[in-house]
Amino acid sequence: MNLILLGPPGAGKGTQAKMIEDALGIVQLSTGDMLRAAVAAGTEVGLKAKAVMERGELVSDDIVIGIISERIDEPDCAGGFILDGFPRTVGQAEALDVLLSDKDKKLNVVIELKVDDEKLVERITGRFTCAKCGEGYHETFKRPAEDDVCDKCGGTEFVRRKDDNEETVRSRLTAYHAQTSPLIGYYGGAGMLRSVDGMADIGVVGGQITEVLNNL
Ligand code: ADP
Ligand code: ADP
Ligand code: ZN
Repeated sequence: MNLILLGPPGAGKGTQAKMIEDALGIVQLSTGDMLRAAVAAGTEVGLKAKAVMERGELVSDDIVIGIISERIDEPDCAGGFILDGFPRTVGQAEALDVLLSDKDKKLNVVIELKVDDEKLVERITGRFTCAKCGEGYHETFKRPAEDDVCDKCGGTEFVRRKDDNEETVRSRLTAYHAQTSPLIGYYGGAGMLRSVDGMADIGVVGGQITEVLNNL
């Protein structure tokens, strides 16, 4: 099963991707995580991406297409993958079509998470992550069972992303509406798109996604 989770920043793509990963044993491929790792490691890609990400703009298509193409070739992707945060432009979607067909792979479905902009700002400004295992949390909507201890790994250090501030979120939402939302028409026209209500609670959204996947 190869699928795309499509939606604005803070829609819940990462949260749902991790749940699908656990349930189906297919891997999450997050271009945002890969780019942050490149920035942290100070690679050539990281050096190009850093300032763009801090401004809340999109990194160039060439860079992310290259990263994804290489990543899909790794053995753990053979059993299926969840694209989280890619594609984000029509150019990336077209390149994905070509590279999947070159690799003899295909997409099964594109699931869109629909969430209002005001809710997204609240989600992103309250987001934090376990430094050790990457599990995602929220100050209000998904607190660890015990304060300051990760439910998943017991880690006690948490991090916030530099771009998760209100000002950068506004730029990211502008980029989403201008550059990424055309993908709804792109995949809708291809008969690939299923939309779910991303405003619902985390478990309810997960249930809707399970239903979509069961009905494929
Ligand atoms: P979110 O999950 O909040 O939408 P991501 O972690 O997916 O954020 O992305 C963080 C930043 O990384 C984006 O604002 C953008 O600068 C860059 N980025 C991630 N994926 C892509 C992509 N497919 N194309 C261009 N830029 C990307
Ligand atoms: P994305 O990957 O689309 O940027 P995340 O999965 O990181 O979004 O979710 C953004 C924030 O909102 C996180 O703090 C997460 O815990 C929280 N969150 C995710 N889904 C929901 C939901 N359905 N209801 C409330 N909060 C949510
Ligand atoms: Zn953890």
